Amino acid sequence: MAERTLSIIKPDATRRNLTGKINAKFEEKGLRIVAQKRLQLSQDQAGAFYAEHKARPFYNDLVSFMTSGPVVVQVLEGENAIAANREIMGATNPANAAEGTIRKEFAESIEANSVHGSDGPEAAVREISFFFAGTEIVG
Ligand code: GDP
Ligand code: MG
Repeated sequence: MAERTLSIIKPDATRRNLTGKINAKFEEKGLRIVAQKRLQLSQDQAGAFYAEHKARPFYNDLVSFMTSGPVVVQVLEGENAIAANREIMGATNPANAAEGTIRKEFAESIEANSVHGSDGPEAAVREISFFFAGTEIVG
């Protein structure tokens, strides 16, 4: 089923100039970048985006990290894009990420783990609309 998902290239990866290498992995696996922009998130934006994690002990650190430099927010489209993106990203903790995944190859830590991907269909809809108007997505 053709699907769309939200992807974010996180500040640790933009800082190390890895956006091209990361997006090559998505494109090689058949996902298409149908919307994209580079942003400096505010504390309020990052906090709202990660509101589901508000009660977690790492929430404040996560918001600081996500505002520590530019991010690239993008919409990926393709067959089972939500699950495909999660598979290409690898496990949250790079120590547990499979060989060949983005997080195995590039992540610095469980926090600075280079990429975000929506975790399900409802999150994908919510997260895409958090950053993009319908007219900004060109499939
Ligand atoms: P994801 O869906 O794989 O990105 O993982 P989660 O939704 O569980 O967590 C969101 C983000 O919070 C992760 O991608 C990490 O950047 C960060 N994070 C998750 N777990 C931890 C943790 O135990 N410690 C810290 N410092 N950050 C974490
Ligand atoms: Mg998540």
